[in-house]
Amino acid sequence: MTAMPGPAPTGDLILIVEDEPPMRRFLRAALTSHGFRVAEAGTLEAAERAATEAPPAAILLDLGLPDGDGVEFLRRVRGWSTAPVIVVSARDREDDKVIALDAGADDYLTKPFGTSELLARIRVALRHARGRTLGADDPVVTVGPIRIDHARHEVAMSGTAVHLTPIEFRLLALLARHAGKVLTHRQLLHEVWGPRATHHSHYLRVHMAALRRKLEVDPARPRWLTTEAGVGYRLRDE
Ligand code: CA
Repeated sequence: MTAMPGPAPTGDLILIVEDEPPMRRFLRAALTSHGFRVAEAGTLEAAERAATEAPPAAILLDLGLPDGDGVEFLRRVRGWSTAPVIVVSARDREDDKVIALDAGADDYLTKPFGTSELLARIRVALRHARGRTLGADDPVVTVGPIRIDHARHEVAMSGTAVHLTPIEFRLLALLARHAGKVLTHRQLLHEVWGPRATHHSHYLRVHMAALRRKLEVDPARPRWLTTEAGVGYRLRDE
């Protein structure tokens, strides 16, 4: 992955919650060399103190900490902070990621990952946190080659009109509003089909497959509507 052009560094404060020294060093070096300020904590207790003392613009959160689970911190911090939280975890268990995302995390990174991936995730999280979310107010949203006209309920792919069913349109519009961010199966089902549909993952599979047939050059290897295995889907915006 190549680094994508982004806004000039703003000196945003990023709180790193991580107990492994090598990982902390990597995160600190990657962030400070790209113009971010960092605060660091190695325990849940220190993380809560740090977040209270100097409210961070975003939080990188390890899930396995010496005095507890990062998800616990997430649940507590969500009560009073709106800072986006990106879970940074070595665990490859999808369940942990889903629990963290459904508990209010904005995204996740699975170790090992590179600097450009880290920075891309942080940029998306900061952009969403600042309310510059795609489709929040604009009647027309463009993500890559996909153009969504909310007022007219029209979608075009590279300038060619694409006919979507109402459900497909809602699903795409939701992903576009959160472009760049992963949305869990539960979040997508809840928003598109309603609270009683959150276990009907097959709805999603069927409609995502239909969307891909209509919007992807190669639906089997999607460029835009990507699968986050065991977690959910993401509309890429890079
Ligand atoms: Ca750890």
